[in-house]
Amino acid sequence: MRTPIIAGNWKLNMNPDQTKEFVAAVKNKLPNQNTVEALICAPAVDLDALKKAAAGSNLLVGAENAYFEDEGAFTGETSPKVLKEMGIDYCIIGHSERREYFHETDEDINKKAQALFANGVTPIICCGESLETREADQQAEWVIQQIKAALAGLTNDQVAKAVIAYEPIWAIGTGKTASSDQAQEMCKTIRDTVRDLYNDETADNVRIQYGGSVNPGNVKELMAKPDIDGGLVGGASLKPDSYLALVNYQ
Ligand code: PGA
Repeated sequence: MRTPIIAGNWKLNMNPDQTKEFVAAVKNKLPNQNTVEALICAPAVDLDALKKAAAGSNLLVGAENAYFEDEGAFTGETSPKVLKEMGIDYCIIGHSERREYFHETDEDINKKAQALFANGVTPIICCGESLETREADQQAEWVIQQIKAALAGLTNDQVAKAVIAYEPIWAIGTGKTASSDQAQEMCKTIRDTVRDLYNDETADNVRIQYGGSVNPGNVKELMAKPDIDGGLVGGASLKPDSYLALVNYQ
């Protein structure tokens, strides 16, 4: 009942010319959007090129971040309203790199989720624990608190449409994937949290991705788990062949 969603997270890689080349290589080999949603989340400076190159294909386009105000004196920020005007479908918020290097708080992430929904852009809300938290076996408590904070004030309908990405920090860019059982356990914990906060329908509709060293070799096993509805993929999303293998995992 939940359409799988495989998203590339390009981070601070790729320029508009590379973006066009990438899309030209993948655009005719993507799955139908009703089968698997194939998404690329790109730096703001590439979004115009990405959106234009993807026109008429099954490729969905997302941003990697946005601010929680639509306009005003906020030098250097990205407007959620303009993302909507550009036809951007999704926006990642609360990635662990943004939390760590740019000091984003749970409160910021909640405001960003509200602002994106107000503009009709779907947030991909990231959460995940550090290695230290995992070693102390506190990952469930940690992530539950992140999810409660990120979703505060959102309606049933909004949460049902949202995407949540569980990304253990120790698995990001390290080549060390969480085992499919570890990933499933945490994605289930997140769904159960949504069930407690909202209701069965919302919990059964919200899509939950796993992220952290997902690659063409492990995607199938991860996607076979009942509470994993997609992947948020950094390194393995940068090359057309690898990206195509991920989105065509079925
Ligand atoms: P990775 O990054 O696939 O390179 O581990 C995932 C992410 O940060 O979203």
